[in-house]
Amino acid sequence: MSKKSIKMLLIVEDNPGDARLLREMFKEQGSHNTELTHAECMSEAERHLSEHTFDLIVLDLGLPDAQGLAAVRRAHAAAPHVPLVVLTGLDDESLAAEALQEGAQDYLIKGQIGTRGLLRSLRYAIERKIMEEALFVEKERAQVTLNSIGDAVACTDIAGNITFLNLVAEKMTGSSREEAVGRPMAEVLRILDAASRETVPNPMELAVGKNRTVHLPLNCVLVRRDGFEIPIEDCVSPIHNREGEATGAVIVFRDVSVAQAMALQMAHSAQHDFLTGLPNRMLLNDRVSQAIVLAQRHMKKVAVLFLDLDGFKHINDSLGHPIGDKLLQSIAKRLVDCGRSSDTVSRQGGDEFVVLLSEVEQSDDAATTARRMLQAIAEPHSIGQHDLHVTASIGLSIYPDDGLDAETLIKNADTAMYQAKENGHQSYQFFKSAMNVRAVERQSIEESLRRALERQEFALHYQPIVNLRTGEITGAEALIRWTHPTRGPVSPAQFIPVAEDCGLILPIGNWVLREACKQARAWVDSGLPRGTIAVNISAIEFRDERFLEGVFGILKDTGLDPRSLELELTESVLMKRAESTESILKALRARGVQVAVDDFGTGYSSLSYLRRFPIDALKIDQSFVRQITTAPDETTIVTAVISMGRSLKLRVVAEGVETQQELAFLQAHQCDEAQGYFFSRPLPPKQFAKLLKTGIPEAVVLIHP
Ligand code: C2E
Ligand code: MG
Ligand code: MG
Repeated sequence: MSKKSIKMLLIVEDNPGDARLLREMFKEQGSHNTELTHAECMSEAERHLSEHTFDLIVLDLGLPDAQGLAAVRRAHAAAPHVPLVVLTGLDDESLAAEALQEGAQDYLIKGQIGTRGLLRSLRYAIERKIMEEALFVEKERAQVTLNSIGDAVACTDIAGNITFLNLVAEKMTGSSREEAVGRPMAEVLRILDAASRETVPNPMELAVGKNRTVHLPLNCVLVRRDGFEIPIEDCVSPIHNREGEATGAVIVFRDVSVAQAMALQMAHSAQHDFLTGLPNRMLLNDRVSQAIVLAQRHMKKVAVLFLDLDGFKHINDSLGHPIGDKLLQSIAKRLVDCGRSSDTVSRQGGDEFVVLLSEVEQSDDAATTARRMLQAIAEPHSIGQHDLHVTASIGLSIYPDDGLDAETLIKNADTAMYQAKENGHQSYQFFKSAMNVRAVERQSIEESLRRALERQEFALHYQPIVNLRTGEITGAEALIRWTHPTRGPVSPAQFIPVAEDCGLILPIGNWVLREACKQARAWVDSGLPRGTIAVNISAIEFRDERFLEGVFGILKDTGLDPRSLELELTESVLMKRAESTESILKALRARGVQVAVDDFGTGYSSLSYLRRFPIDALKIDQSFVRQITTAPDETTIVTAVISMGRSLKLRVVAEGVETQQELAFLQAHQCDEAQGYFFSRPLPPKQFAKLLKTGIPEAVVLIHP
């Protein structure tokens, strides 16, 4: 304890002898620092107390204007924070004890006061007052804390009777502190096991018995006084005295109903699709795995149906996502209605659904369900003011025939679905292992393609395009060639679609364009006849936001005259997003770059765009040219395209001319240009340069009058 010095002392004593005695005792002790103030009555004391701050009051209990406890109370009221030591006579010890109850720190009995004892008593009185104040603050802090935390707190004594409840505990139990204090804990806190409805053993006894913090078992409910049940979580800790013996317990508990509801909700949403409420991919995988185990035991089959909507993207793009979402919900409902209650309909994301048919007798049953689902989906969906028509394609895989685990079954059903799409819309298709071979093949192409550019496995070949009136070579189409290190040459018809799917078409297309322009410029520089170089552009390149920038950059870098470049685009590319198509084509036209419609006639054949867009040439697809020899009666398309081209002032180029007969027909119908094996196969650059020099022999290009 620190030796607290007494600087300001107030002695309240009407007896001058006693007062003098005290003063002398102080002097004797050499307490020169202490400033003594003397009051002869309470009212004088009160005046001093209101004017100065004292460290201590020594108070006689027999004052003329205040006696006994009344004196203590008045002094305390005048200076509640100043420690108080009372002076009594020998016969008044019981009064002194009461004074202590009223807040005095100590008492001195007149006639028995020794000098040393006096000072020690006064010092202790001050220390005790400081500690009391600190304890009060501490207690107050604990009280405020307990009432402001969100958890409920209850305390018990060692007998298990409640000694305290905070506000939250009052609310949760339905008992006020006054009502609860003194009653057994089990009465105030009625805790049941939610499942068994049995009373949970008093956790306080456990905590005290084990002398450590214990928790309630999971799934407990607190029964409020009015019978309402609240799910709770709690912990109970024993309280110890200085000797370390348990003297009671503190129980902290909280309402977990919100947390529990949230956990349930989260568990549900982790396994379900938010849009349709159907099980998601994860839950489906579990269900398929379970179904496999059951089917194995009962010697049954399991079917997995992979369903994808046809043209859903178009609906989403044209009518907006809210309508698309409603359509998916409507489809989800129909699929659920089609299945049995033991089936699982899940949504994989996007417009893909996977249906699990458990315990199937034979594959045919699955086919029946697939047909039923296709039909149900095809019925119009009335959404908002729209009556939407949509079809789907379904791929099926069967356990154990097509796979032994969930992942393989779903993957194979997916593969089969792609085949169903190729077969035509609104059809279903069982998985065949040959499909896998194709998928593997595709993947291996993709892997090698990734390295093909840096390993310089690509080359360009050039196929001449011939003017059918003059027989001159007017230009060439650049065609990519890939020599795979082990497979040898791979056809562009095989790898271009893969490159488009995996995005590699962008760097590859860029390489082709640059290479072709460089070559064309080199031929011009070496004095060869000037011609047009035609380069195929895939949809993905054309839609890339940096497409124009790329074309113009390459023209600038290679120094090729833009009028010598022709870009070949297919009809389907031109048809989509007319606005942006038009602006891109206009930008190309403004620089002099030409545009040809490739494979004309095989696409949409919506001809209005031919008038709208700045286009220079039409390339008649070789399948139509072939008809000239194979089905001479059906040449209307070829003649129609030629005459249409003429009326729209477009150059018409016939592709894939292989025979004299085809050539003669085209010339007779005044087709402008042609290309094909009849004139030349696509050639490597050196050979093409030679051909450019010599030209195609006139004998080959029979000029019809
Ligand atoms: P396409 O643009 O229609 O090219 C014409 C295709 O017909 C070429 O096939 C060409 O070799 C072939 N061909 C030319 N004359 C005849 C003939 O008389 N008879 C027959 N049966 N075929 C003939 P290729 O080179 O295999 O290219 C196939 C397709 O691959 C091209 O069709 C084009 O769509 C695409 N392609 C080729 N190179 C590129 C390229 O660099 N970029 C892009 N994006 N696609 C390319
Ligand atoms: Mg082409
Ligand atoms: Mg073509």
